Amino acid sequence: MSTLLAAEGLTKSYGSTPALRGASVAVRAGEILAVTGASGSGKSTLLHCLAGIVRPDAGTVTYAGTPLDGYDEERLSALRRTDFGIVFQFGQLIPELTALDNVALPLLLAGRPRAVAHNEADAWLERFGMRGRRELRPGELSGGQAQRVALARALVTAPKVVFADEPTGALDTLATEQVLTSLVHTVRETHTAVVLVTHEAQVAAYADREVSLRDGVAQETSGAFASGLPSSEVTR
Ligand code: ADP
Ligand code: MG
Repeated sequence: MSTLLAAEGLTKSYGSTPALRGASVAVRAGEILAVTGASGSGKSTLLHCLAGIVRPDAGTVTYAGTPLDGYDEERLSALRRTDFGIVFQFGQLIPELTALDNVALPLLLAGRPRAVAHNEADAWLERFGMRGRRELRPGELSGGQAQRVALARALVTAPKVVFADEPTGALDTLATEQVLTSLVHTVRETHTAVVLVTHEAQVAAYADREVSLRDGVAQETSGAFASGLPSSEVTR
């Protein structure tokens, strides 16, 4: 499996607080990579750097063979819209919109006709077992249902990588299993890579591979390769 997204030697501090201190990690096309570590170990910062939301102080993020350093904000945000999908722990759905309209929104923003956007959104809600609730608003959904809608919305644009930061952090065990089972099933079908940030072993167990952060440094904890393939192995 070839490397799709790689971070090499990332450092990032907030004022005098170091969040990343030379973190390297490689994400291969279609794989589910868990990023684990204690609270404050730098997981969210690493995810934000990989997703092009935060620029590292030093080090390089390379996507599909191109370093993101040279991208201006406009190109970065275009890349996030076309190639990346993002899901957070909670609160990212728009409360005034139905589940269907929440999922259709990225397609509407991309200029797709309303009927097309709704058809696509419907299909994604179906994959996540949420089609019967498409007319409900986020406030009428359980936490697990809302997260499945959020995942459908992250995947509706057919991204190459989905970034999920503690996506089940607010859910109970059963809802966590339902959300992750439908996520894994779906990304296997679409060959979408997932960067799954979690501090829970139960969640990391769904991944193909796990990288653990400790004080802002990444280490491979399972799988065949060490974390952070050299740049010569990054696909061009
Ligand atoms: P994790 O997601 O593993 O809990 P974070 O990446 O959120 O770790 O945080 C790593 C370190 O950086 C922590 O010490 C945290 O307090 C600090 N930090 C993260 N974001 C900010 C921020 N916006 N401002 C100041 N400090 C931050
Ligand atoms: Mg975090």
